[in-house]
Amino acid sequence: MSLYADIMLPVPLNQLFCYLVPGTLEHSAVPGARVYVPFGKGRRLTGIIVRTHTDKPADGHTIKEILGVLDPDGPSVLPSQLRLMEWMTGYCMCNPGDVMKASVPAGLRPDSGSNEHTYKPRIEVFVKPGAKLKGYPDVDLEQHLGKTAVRQKETLQKYIELSDLDENPQNPAPVTKKTLADACKSASALKALLDNGLLECYELETGRLPQFNGHTQEPTALSPAQERALNDIRKCFKSKNVCLLHGVTSSGKTEIYIHLIKEHIAKGGQVLYLLPEIALTTQIMHRLQKVFGGDMCVYHSRCSDNIRVEVWNRLAGPNPYKLILGARSAVMLPLQNLSLVIVDEEHEPNFKQEEPAPRYQGRNTAIMLASMLGAKTLLGSATPSLESYSNAINGKYGLVTLTERFRNIKLPRIEIVDTATLRRKKYMKGLFSPILTQHIQEALQNGRQAILFHNRRGYAGTVECPDCGWVQKCDRCDVSLTFHKSTDTATCHYCGQNYRVPVVCPECGSKSLRGRGFGTERIQEEVANLFPKARVARLDLDSAKGGYESIINDFQEGRTDILIGTQMVSKGLDFGGVSVVGILDADSIMNYPDFRATERAFQLMGQVAGRAGRKDRQGTVIIQTRQPQAPVLDMVCRNDYSGFFNEQMQERKTFNYPPYSRLTLVTIKGTDLNSVQSAAAMLAVSLAELFGSQRVLGPDAPAVPKVQYRHIRRIMIKTGLEQTYVSVRTQINEAVNRVASKNGLNGVTVAFDADPM
Ligand code: ADP
Ligand code: ZN
Ligand code: ZN
Repeated sequence: MSLYADIMLPVPLNQLFCYLVPGTLEHSAVPGARVYVPFGKGRRLTGIIVRTHTDKPADGHTIKEILGVLDPDGPSVLPSQLRLMEWMTGYCMCNPGDVMKASVPAGLRPDSGSNEHTYKPRIEVFVKPGAKLKGYPDVDLEQHLGKTAVRQKETLQKYIELSDLDENPQNPAPVTKKTLADACKSASALKALLDNGLLECYELETGRLPQFNGHTQEPTALSPAQERALNDIRKCFKSKNVCLLHGVTSSGKTEIYIHLIKEHIAKGGQVLYLLPEIALTTQIMHRLQKVFGGDMCVYHSRCSDNIRVEVWNRLAGPNPYKLILGARSAVMLPLQNLSLVIVDEEHEPNFKQEEPAPRYQGRNTAIMLASMLGAKTLLGSATPSLESYSNAINGKYGLVTLTERFRNIKLPRIEIVDTATLRRKKYMKGLFSPILTQHIQEALQNGRQAILFHNRRGYAGTVECPDCGWVQKCDRCDVSLTFHKSTDTATCHYCGQNYRVPVVCPECGSKSLRGRGFGTERIQEEVANLFPKARVARLDLDSAKGGYESIINDFQEGRTDILIGTQMVSKGLDFGGVSVVGILDADSIMNYPDFRATERAFQLMGQVAGRAGRKDRQGTVIIQTRQPQAPVLDMVCRNDYSGFFNEQMQERKTFNYPPYSRLTLVTIKGTDLNSVQSAAAMLAVSLAELFGSQRVLGPDAPAVPKVQYRHIRRIMIKTGLEQTYVSVRTQINEAVNRVASKNGLNGVTVAFDADPM
């Protein structure tokens, strides 16, 4: 009987591909093995076997054979990883090929014909004693070097020092050629020593993963409240797989995690610690490194592919890391021994990958991974997502709350400032209300610090003509440009294209073009005018080109007084000296056309506010707004999570939004507007036939209806909780096939997103 294999291939189709397993490969072509196969006209692709079987495929065309197996000594992909990938293709509506590309580093999937993707081990050149130095210290250096070769003598001495040769003549410490060259500063002397056989070069594969050489410490002792929370978590894990830790900002959740991680590692388990944003993790990484040292690694999609390969290999090997600190993509690593997953800041929308595919929710995927492996999941947040909190309330998850800050410091006092009135009365100085200015002034006088938050970077939101209403837009995208004063350019934040700002309006010739709306750059300019002596830094995607780390470190060490930033300043950063936090324009946070706007606003403001007064005394938060009566502001002020939760759940129920329903977004894209519109219209009709018209919303154009020359239309499908995403996907496929069979999808691409954020 012939053996067949269903294989995941890196192509954007929603299917596995069936190949025949030749008899010679039957023992090695097993699930999880990497194989290469012929594909299309003369192409060869590397894929992964998902399953093998003996069912001859029904359709008549000839089945091709697997050409070779890349894993002769056992599969590269663990069975649990395969199961997770299959779950992601179903629940998250991802194509298998996209999941595979996100999961397996490119260096482990060499495609024949191009070797740009193959992993290159890192080789370093070291120096060791050469033939003439054998027998050291009983060697007459004078004889080999002569009296004049001072530089060579110095260089050799440096080598002896660095390698500790006097102590260990048989086994000197490895010294790289580069280290020695840097230390002696004479390339010619080093070359001479190598040429005359006193030293010798050799190569060694060293790898790129950082080595930890310091000493580790015990975790800090927990406060009684923290100890209680830790106990509750342990208890909760006896009966539940998932526990939500709802702890106010600065209650010391991270310290609790550290204790829990240590316990799990001590029992031989592995811990996966997920964070929403990896660029800002150095603070947390250092806190963890103090305790876990070389047992931990950091993994995210911005690691180079070579590093990803090395982390993968280390995790798949005999001595895996015990703690993996990572962004969402770390859920797809080979974890042989997982016993705990921590999802910190679990409410963060960033856990969802939106673009490109696979569009998966990292938090939910982590929970699934843990349950597949019999591990526990701890979700942590000061402002939990409605989904997680309702799961906790209805008993699906455990719930542990921590209502006091560490050292019992009070949560910050929050003041709402009505900027509309102040502006009418001419009390506003630019973007600043008198009370915000005064608090910043006081902070500076007392040697304290301030954080100013605004959710838009750049200088002005748009460049426009006040005479005719012309707005400068991107040629490739249907969106207005953001003006950056520092570079004097207008930039498209969707495609990155830069433009010059015209001197006169191209429509009417007016010379009074101006910016509208403001961003962090403008705040920085006003701060410089209002507080000329203050040391100011900006943390946003633009300022961070020189590295986020130095900006964060400088603020932490008190080398800057005022930090201006976008959401980046809201994410779990821990600064001791901040006494005041200003939110310059709460309206831009609240007025978002999305059913999650209020949830986002509550979370974002709560998190930003939580940066104030963390170390010794209560801090102050000033929220500037034109809508001081907005209910969400009142809830933020009182830190009233349950009020917020109840009100929002009521609203979601009334309008049948998640978590009372499931949403699936269908996106149609193409360069020709007519094709996109007609495809969207046909697809909407076909979807309505299958789901019922009341469940299908749209098509409509998103707020930015064209990106990179491609027009976009969207259809939203709202289904009941009784229908799984897998079954929704099946019905969508049916609708897509119907339209495709009428040639309705020519020239467009269709993508799906389960639970869009
Ligand atoms: P959260 O994660 O809840 O926002 P953190 O874990 O960052 O809170 O703690 C806030 C601050 O309090 C940090 O600077 C942390 O080092 C300190 N802290 C918390 N718990 C302890 C403890 N048990 N001992 C010493 N310092 C602590
Ligand atoms: Zn004009
Ligand atoms: Zn653009």
